[in-house]
Amino acid sequence: MTNCIIYLDNAATTKPNSEVLSTMANADNLLFYNSAALYEASLNVKRELSNARQIITKKLTHNTDGELIITSGATESNNMVLLGKITHKNHHLLILSGEHSSSYGPAMYLRNQGFDVDFVPLKNTGEADLDAIKRLVKPSTALFAFGMVNSDTGTLHNSEAIVKLVRSLNKQVHIHCDATQAFCKFDFDVHDLGFDSVSISAHKIHGPKGIGGLWIKKGTKLNPIMIGGSQQNYRPGTESNASILGFAKAVEIFKTAENFTHVQSLKKYLLANLPEGCRINGEKINPYITNIQLPNVLGQTVMNALSSQGICVGLGSACSSTASKNRTLLAMGISESKTKQVIRVSFSATSTLADVDTFCALLKNILDNLR
Ligand code: PMP
Repeated sequence: MTNCIIYLDNAATTKPNSEVLSTMANADNLLFYNSAALYEASLNVKRELSNARQIITKKLTHNTDGELIITSGATESNNMVLLGKITHKNHHLLILSGEHSSSYGPAMYLRNQGFDVDFVPLKNTGEADLDAIKRLVKPSTALFAFGMVNSDTGTLHNSEAIVKLVRSLNKQVHIHCDATQAFCKFDFDVHDLGFDSVSISAHKIHGPKGIGGLWIKKGTKLNPIMIGGSQQNYRPGTESNASILGFAKAVEIFKTAENFTHVQSLKKYLLANLPEGCRINGEKINPYITNIQLPNVLGQTVMNALSSQGICVGLGSACSSTASKNRTLLAMGISESKTKQVIRVSFSATSTLADVDTFCALLKNILDNLR
């Protein structure tokens, strides 16, 4: 079976909305001109892209005191901040444990290059350990990086408390938030929350893949990681018109409140119908993501069995699917063998109650057969 009949891995990616696809097809056809050229057709493209940027930025903040840099996705956005901010050996980087590989990877790269990098431990609930933050922020801390929602467990960190605490310890710290799993799914204002930069991605919200953004507060200084053309500050290269317009369309039509209520009811049903012996990892979890601890069965085995029946679920963050360890669950104090006995179910607006019902019934069958 190669196609998913039931797709429950929406934290990995979502199906592009049909309006997004037609916006993109239209743009590829009529708005293909290079936005950096100076004739009228290109100036028109430039206006359309500027309008798209405004739509995306407005969803992030009501404040106009910032800039949205379009990137190839949140991986690039996170790399831009970590590698662009930590440039001297006296710059301390503090990052939450269990972060997505696109932040963890650059942090480890920096540590291996001899930079001063610390990881904030997680509590066994999956939340950031605020006492540890108190101990770890130093006068030399140049960057504090964390994700608003953990992509393995779905834990929604308390951004307000974290920012307040970090700022009370060191006013100069640049605070970066990876909002990839939160953008559009919750209403928040990145300016009001006090972030200096924020990463987002289109393909988590029914937009195209290979396009995302980095919002930065006015006055932020970053060392660019790419050098060349003059298209956008910090990020040269010909703009991808269709993808940018598709991204804006996905943002424009995303129904934050309606979708939240929908996935909340799916989550309630899932929790009420999980087979015996299964439990949930983490607390303060948002309804889009659920990390299920299985009863002494490998997640990979269950995932394969579900896949053979056309049901797609994840094991954890797809970007770490080839990594042998789930860093988030390990940081929560779960034993290495138990971290391999999990599956991750994640919903979107396209998921249905019937999907969840079928999933629960098949999971029960699979577990019964394996017992
Ligand atoms: N951060 C988080 C929290 C994610 O879940 C993902 C996607 N799995 C990324 C960053 C990377 O996003 P992209 O695929 O747009 O590079």
